[in-house]
Amino acid sequence: MQAMNVVVCVKQIPDPAAPGALDPGTKNLVRSGKLILDDSDAYGVEMALQLADAAGGGDVTLVSMAPNGEVSGLRTALAMGAARAILVSDDALAGSDALSTAKVLAAAIRRAEPDLVLAATESTDGYTGTTPVQIAELLGLPSVTFAKKVEVADGSLKVERQTEAGYDEVECPLPALVTVTAGVVEPRYPSFKGIMAAKSKPVDTLTVADLGLDGDQVGAGGARQEVTDVVPAESRAAGELVVDEGEGHQRIIEFLEQLKVL
Ligand SMILES: Cc1cc2nc3c(=O)[nH]c(=O)nc-3n(C[C@H](O)[C@H](O)[C@H](O)COP(=O)(O)OP(=O)(O)OC[C@H]3O[C@@H](n4cnc5c(N)ncnc54)[C@H](O)[C@@H]3O)c2cc1C
Repeated sequence: MQAMNVVVCVKQIPDPAAPGALDPGTKNLVRSGKLILDDSDAYGVEMALQLADAAGGGDVTLVSMAPNGEVSGLRTALAMGAARAILVSDDALAGSDALSTAKVLAAAIRRAEPDLVLAATESTDGYTGTTPVQIAELLGLPSVTFAKKVEVADGSLKVERQTEAGYDEVECPLPALVTVTAGVVEPRYPSFKGIMAAKSKPVDTLTVADLGLDGDQVGAGGARQEVTDVVPAESRAAGELVVDEGEGHQRIIEFLEQLKVL
C-alpha cells in the first residue's frame, strides 16, 4: 500500500446564519468578524481522512486563504482529524478575485507536495465554482469535478462524477485535484478529544512574500473581477390558486403544456 498525503482546500466564511453585510464602497462581503468552516468543505475533509486511513499511511493538510489570521474554521477541520494547516493571510490580499485566490492557494499547495488535492465544487458565500479548476491548471494537475464517490486503487484515482443524467466513471493518475459534492461522505462531528488535540496542531501562517508571489498579482490591484452592482433578488410573485372542482388534473396538464415540459 502507498501512503496518501491529501491537501484539502478549506474556505473560512462569515456564518451564513448571521445576516451578511456588504462594504458600501467595494460592495464586497464584510469578512471582519469571526469566520467559520464552510460546510461544503467538511465533505472534502472527511473524504481526505477516509482516503488516508484506507491507504494505511499519510495524512491530511488543510490550506486556506482568509483575512485577519483567521483560524476558527481551520480548528474545526483540525478537530475532525486533519494533521496540520497552512493559512495564507495578508492585508495585501484584500479584494483578491477568484483567479488571484487560486494563485495563492496553488503556491501554498505546492509546498505540501500532495498526492491528491480536494476542494468543494463551490463555496457557500462566493460560489463561482471556478477556484479549484484554476488551481489544477496552475499546478499542471488533472482535475475531476463533481465527485460523488472517490477511491484510490493501485496508485490511480477512481471517481464517480455526478452528471445530470447519472454519473461518469473516471480514472486518472495521481497527483490530481478532485472537487467533491455534498453527500460524497458523511462528515464526522469533532470529538471532545479531537477538539482538545486541534488546539496544539500546527498552523503555518504565510504572507504573500513568503509564497514568493508578486504583490501585483493578488489583492484588488491584481483582480480582473469587480463587483459593479448588487441588487436584491426579485420577490416571488404570488402563485395562482386553483380550486379543484373535479377538473384540477386538466388545469395541471394545461399548465405543464404551457411550460413545454409535456
Ligand atoms: C471582489 C472580491 C473581493 C475579495 N476579497 C477578499 C479579501 O479581502 N480577502 C480574502 O481572503 N479573499 C477575498 N476574496 C476571495 C474570495 O473570498 C474567494 O476566496 C475567491 O474569490 C474564490 O471564490 P469562490 O468563493 O466563488 O470560490 P469557489 O470557486 O466557489 O470555491 C470552490 C472551493 O474552492 C476552495 N476555496 C475557494 N476559496 C478558498 C479560500 N479562500 N481558501 C481555501 N479554499 C478556498 C474551497 O474548497 C471552495 O469550496 C475576494 C473575492 C472577490 C471576488
